[in-house]
This record gives sequence, structure tokens and C-alpha cells, in this order.
Amino acid sequence: MRREFSAGGVLFKDGEVLLIKNPSGVWTFPKGNIEKGEKPEDTAVREVLEETSVKGEVVDYVGEIRYWYQLKGEKIFKKVKYYLMRYLGGEPKPSWEVEDARFFPVEEAKKLLKYKGDREIFRKALEKLSP
Ligand code: ATP
Repeated sequence: MRREFSAGGVLFKDGEVLLIKNPSGVWTFPKGNIEKGEKPEDTAVREVLEETSVKGEVVDYVGEIRYWYQLKGEKIFKKVKYYLMRYLGGEPKPSWEVEDARFFPVEEAKKLLKYKGDREIFRKALEKLSP
């Protein structure tokens, strides 16, 4: 069994949240592989910038999700850490790695998020914003 470790960001700008459409066509949070020796929070900032061209900074830790997926018959167990992020600058522009990148109002984002883990992370992130 292979394991993967990624980190991503739940980035807010004026009450809107940044989502990407992944290659599976699912709206989700920007994230990516934690490189060797890299701190997960640095990965989150780097991946948000790489995938969306939006610059942010980490303000808090949200939580970790776990899922399985299959790649060419191999089962992969994945853990992803998410960080609450504050907008610093830039306009969303999807990289070649993603199909789209946009800000959405919270209620619209709730409807778009399909993965169970994403829904839990979004709930926790919103709780951190207004406890
Ligand atoms: P990364 O963005 O971490 O570099 P990746 O693009 O290689 O990763 P994933 O985004 O983990 O890979 O996608 C691999 C598979 O897992 C795809 O089939 C995708 O639809 C699915 N997947 C992606 N995110 C989730 C999630 N939060 N919950 C369940 N399945 C997911």
C-alpha cells in the first residue's frame, strides 16, 4: 500500500472562499504533495499559489482528512492537512493542474463541495472564523 501526504488551504477573501475544480471535475480546496523537509503550512501556501495564483498566509490549522483511492490498480492511502488562510493578493487563475479556480460565496461553496472530508473541513473552518 502506498501512502501520500498533502496539505492545502481554505482561503477566504471578503467572506468568499477559494475553490478549484480538480481533474475529476469536482470542486474542492487547492492542495498538493508535501515535499521532503517542507512544513505542511508552507506546502499549503505554495500549492494555493501554484494552483490558483492567489497569494495567502496561514492563520490557523483546520484539520486533517483521510481517504483511499486507486491508481493503476494500486491502492493509495492519503492524508491531507488543511490550513485556514487569509487573502494577500492575486486574481484566481487556474494552473495547468486544475480545470478552474474561483471565489464562491459560502452558501454556494457548501453546495459545490462533494467530498465528505471537504465538507467537514469547511464546517470546521467556518467555526474558526465565527465561533
Ligand atoms: P495532490 O493535489 O495532493 O497533489 P493528486 O492530484 O495527485 O493530489 P488527488 O487530488 O488526491 O490526487 O486525487 C486522487 C483521487 O482521489 C481522484 O480520483 C480524486 O477524485 C480523489 N479525491 C480527491 N480529493 C478527494 C477527497 N477529498 N476525498 C475523496 N477523494 C478525493
